[in-house]
Amino acid sequence: MSTETPETNADCPFCEWLIRGGAKPPTVYEDEYLVATLCDVPITPGHTQIIFKTHYHELAAVDPDDSARMGSLMPLISGAIKNALGAEMVYVACIAEMVRHVHFHLVPRYVSSVKGFDLLAGPRIPLERVEETLAALHEQLHTKSKQSI
Ligand SMILES: [Zn+2]
Repeated sequence: MSTETPETNADCPFCEWLIRGGAKPPTVYEDEYLVATLCDVPITPGHTQIIFKTHYHELAAVDPDDSARMGSLMPLISGAIKNALGAEMVYVACIAEMVRHVHFHLVPRYVSSVKGFDLLAGPRIPLERVEETLAALHEQLHTKSKQSI
């Protein structure tokens, strides 16, 4: 049985920048509870991870209100990825094993991509075209937020 608790976050790479002021990854979206960043070792271009600002060490520990916030944000980010980057689909995965701070991977699947779990288990690519990708995603999210008013 694991002895890890929600407080054992001293070595957490997300808490390093969320709490201790380390270098923040390229940010797609941020509010009081959640932050979405480009993955530094993406599977496909636009691979985004949505991270709780609270250090939840496993999915079962997530507060229901935060869970609802995550559930509301995932479709917005997914839609932005599709519209901004031309992805056919966006896969979602939550593993939180290598980094024990619960986060959801939103992995764009393009026409040329392999499908299903083969994509998620496939090789990583360099993080490139960061500014261009962020600008396209920010434009989509801004457009969506204006439409919802
Ligand atoms: Zn953490």
